[in-house]
Amino acid sequence: MSIEIRPYWKNYIGGKWVDSSDGQRIDIINPGNGQKICEVARGTGADIDKAVAAARSCFKARVLQDMAPHERGALLFRIADELEKAADEIAEVECLDNGKTLEKGRAELPLTQRYLRYYAGLADKLEGRQIPIGTDLLDYTTHEPYGVSAQIVPWNGPLPVGARSIACAIATANTVVLKSPEDSPLSLFLLAEACERAGVPDGAVNIVCGLGYEAGAALVAHDDIDHIVFTGSVETGKSVLRAAAERVIPCVMELGGKSGGIVFPDADLDQVAESAAAGIFKHAGQICSAGSRLIVHRSLYDEVVSRLVAKAEALTVGPGIDGAELGPLISARQLDRVEALCQVGIDEGATLCTGGKRVAGLDGYFMAPTVFGDVTPQMRIAQEEFFGPVVVIIPFEDTEEAIEIANGTDFGLAAGLYTNNLSLAHKVAHRLVAGQVYVNQWWAGGIETPFGGMKRSGYGREKGQEALLGYVQTKNIGIKL
Ligand code: NAD
Repeated sequence: MSIEIRPYWKNYIGGKWVDSSDGQRIDIINPGNGQKICEVARGTGADIDKAVAAARSCFKARVLQDMAPHERGALLFRIADELEKAADEIAEVECLDNGKTLEKGRAELPLTQRYLRYYAGLADKLEGRQIPIGTDLLDYTTHEPYGVSAQIVPWNGPLPVGARSIACAIATANTVVLKSPEDSPLSLFLLAEACERAGVPDGAVNIVCGLGYEAGAALVAHDDIDHIVFTGSVETGKSVLRAAAERVIPCVMELGGKSGGIVFPDADLDQVAESAAAGIFKHAGQICSAGSRLIVHRSLYDEVVSRLVAKAEALTVGPGIDGAELGPLISARQLDRVEALCQVGIDEGATLCTGGKRVAGLDGYFMAPTVFGDVTPQMRIAQEEFFGPVVVIIPFEDTEEAIEIANGTDFGLAAGLYTNNLSLAHKVAHRLVAGQVYVNQWWAGGIETPFGGMKRSGYGREKGQEALLGYVQTKNIGIKL
């Protein structure tokens, strides 16, 4: 696969491709070698104003609201079909601006198409209720769109994360201004092109790349937005919520995680090793729901540690585009952060079993796959999100202790457990404070299953049918007959 990356990409506002208002650009860097690959327009507050105005005008004109729900579904089906034309380019840009492995880069298109088609199919199935309140009254509910949905997407999965939010918005007749991530925006420009080819009405979907503190902050603080969908870190999420509070608008918040998998004494160790390694090393651990803690019964502890170390050391590390199994972190800053937190773990007295440092001899931002043993629950490395290929392994003696450790962080995005005891699995799954619980397979679930956080991991749900409810407000209509 070798496609020439276009040297410059413009923002998509009101159905037009535009430079930044002040002509500035952002350099896009390939994390696999540290080299610049292209430039994109650097959206500013003025560009956000234009995008919100375009989205508002489309909403006010009722372009999407007056389409029958099945027609909005048809629009989403067309976007999914049009995206196919960019198949090779999507895989390539995902490897080059994002550092994905070739396998993961190629998987982004079918995943994104499934999101678009799933919500296309649901567009005409969001039904209200008729409520019996007496024979002389007719009462029923409808689901109304909020209006202009402001969406902020992180760099680790821009295409599927962006597409699923856009799909929910269009299915429910909201218009969208999406701020794409400044580190890896390219695949979302390809989605905007697919929207254009599919005939999405001008202004219904606007995609603006810009810096977080500039375009992102301007978008969430904009007076004329009605709804926010934010996926990113807890700290940024708090500032987004402060901005939303000023104008009392609803938010869907998808924040970080420090998700733990409990390994019970009867677990199938082949299954544990396979699943736990994939859970932390896929996309170099840069997945919000990565299995970054492993809570292992003392009787299996040594065996699990040595299997995870073997898995880590067997991975080939290098640029995904060259076929390596573990790609780079997104930036030099992120590499510094992950390496520094590993040093904290060493200083705290955890045992570094493998990794712990950047990979020498490679130009990009490569972190060695890392396993820490003898970790105690209160260590910083057991509490803070690495967002890198680092798993911490914590021993436990009994089930109550395991549950306490699993629930013992500020986060509540995902949790998991490995056992062949069905009763134990059900009982423990109920006790885990997390938006999703995986039993015997990390990431058991799919686009059809609701996904989101508890505690500081956020609220609201993406994926599944529940997601649509985050994009509508209920109206009750009562009629005296
Ligand atoms: P981040 O919070 O730094 O940035 C996320 C997005 O917010 C980016 O587009 C950024 O430009 C924008 N942003 C930054 N400052 C802003 C501001 N003041 N106002 C508005 N927008 C602003 O996070 P990141 O480092 O890009 O992504 C990693 C984090 O995202 C991790 O914590 C990870 O767990 C989380 N994440 C969560 C999910 C989920 O679904 N729960 C999915 C992916 C990533």
